[in-house]
Amino acid sequence: MKKAYDIIIVGGGIVGCSIAFEMAKRGHSNILLIERGYLSGGATGRCGAGIRQQWGSVLNATLAVESTHIFENLEEYTGYKGNCGLNQAGYLLIACTEKEWDQFQKNLEVQHQLGVDSYPVDLEKDVYKYVPFINTDGIYGATFCQKDGHADPFHCTFAYAYGARQLGVDILTYTEVLSLKAEGGKIKGVSTTKGDFEAPMVINCANAWAPGLAAQVGDEIPVFPERHQALVTEPVAPMGPNGPMPMVMSFHRKFYVQQSPHGSFIMGIAETEPVSFNIRSSWQFLEECCGVICDTLPALRGLRVVRQWAGLYDMSPDRNPIIEFSKNAEGLITICGFSGHGFMVAPRTAILVAKHLCNEQDDLDIKRFSADRYRTGELLLEPSVV
Ligand SMILES: Cc1cc2nc3c(=O)[nH]c(=O)nc-3n(C[C@H](O)[C@H](O)[C@H](O)COP(=O)(O)OP(=O)(O)OC[C@H]3O[C@@H](n4cnc5c(N)ncnc54)[C@H](O)[C@@H]3O)c2cc1C
Repeated sequence: MKKAYDIIIVGGGIVGCSIAFEMAKRGHSNILLIERGYLSGGATGRCGAGIRQQWGSVLNATLAVESTHIFENLEEYTGYKGNCGLNQAGYLLIACTEKEWDQFQKNLEVQHQLGVDSYPVDLEKDVYKYVPFINTDGIYGATFCQKDGHADPFHCTFAYAYGARQLGVDILTYTEVLSLKAEGGKIKGVSTTKGDFEAPMVINCANAWAPGLAAQVGDEIPVFPERHQALVTEPVAPMGPNGPMPMVMSFHRKFYVQQSPHGSFIMGIAETEPVSFNIRSSWQFLEECCGVICDTLPALRGLRVVRQWAGLYDMSPDRNPIIEFSKNAEGLITICGFSGHGFMVAPRTAILVAKHLCNEQDDLDIKRFSADRYRTGELLLEPSVV
């Protein structure tokens, strides 16, 4: 195996794999991607894999809309022979207060500027056409977008990895990066459980573990780990109007729930969690999640839960990603802080990074994602996150 590369990518989740593919597509394939476990074994393989375009900030909406276009053709885009499982069954977002509903009106304006086909839904008559069994008590309003949905996070990651490999990228799994090597203010490579590898550029896509690696060269990335849990029920007959029930999501009640094409329901809630790398499942989550969701969707009461799991959100102070070019070790780039929505924006984020590294023009300004924003106060504010 080669010991010297142009680029080393740490982390085999959707972010690392998509960046490897986008760089290789632009002719830079002397890349080694290193993953501690198996591809998508981190947050990516544990996520709800929801893809929504109903965002409230132009930046997030742009990342999500343009990523959705890629998800719609990911197999063709990467040459992958598998099925990435995109299911555009729609998202019904519910507002539970007048203030939240006012915000939804502003969000719709942002979405419409970008061509998103999202719209308000009449709670008296129309909401049941989308989610037949919803209890509308305490719901102030709702919006819907048919092109929102979810995909298979494993196959999406494998698709990018497949495409990257076809273009010459080397992928080393079950190999941990133990330390970053830097000298004279420049990155030189990494030390791993399978020896040392050299490269003048290292892209750190290690999610919640990325700040720990970056700290080795003195970079302070203000991202912390937070456990988030999810569960899946037994499969049942489709509970949507024409098939599986669309995603129902509430920022106020802090939950999301969707029915997969297979019939099972996947759901989660945001709990108050301490900063920790703990990814054990808890009975408190099971109880709280089922209670909150069954209040809004009583028809799910009695469904049997077949599995529960947890993963880590990489939380940034403004709950938006950080793309940081190291000032201590030139050539080191740390990309993390996706704060629970990295799956759906990864395709466009990878293009943003690859275009910047290949000196291509981009409508998005990569500097907006720098951690400098926490010093200057120019935060990336997003009104609509769970
Ligand atoms: C329960 C849950 C639900 C979610 N739901 C959604 C959703 O519906 N929609 C959405 O868009 N996002 C969702 N997310 C967030 C989403 O999963 C992440 O933002 C996204 O997957 C981040 O991708 P990543 O590649 O940065 O991280 P990861 O997939 O975590 O990849 C990082 C990889 O780096 C590896 N690594 C770490 N340290 C090292 C090292 N030292 N050496 C080698 N490898 C290392 C890890 O093993 C890991 O595989 C959810 C997350 C969770 C936990």
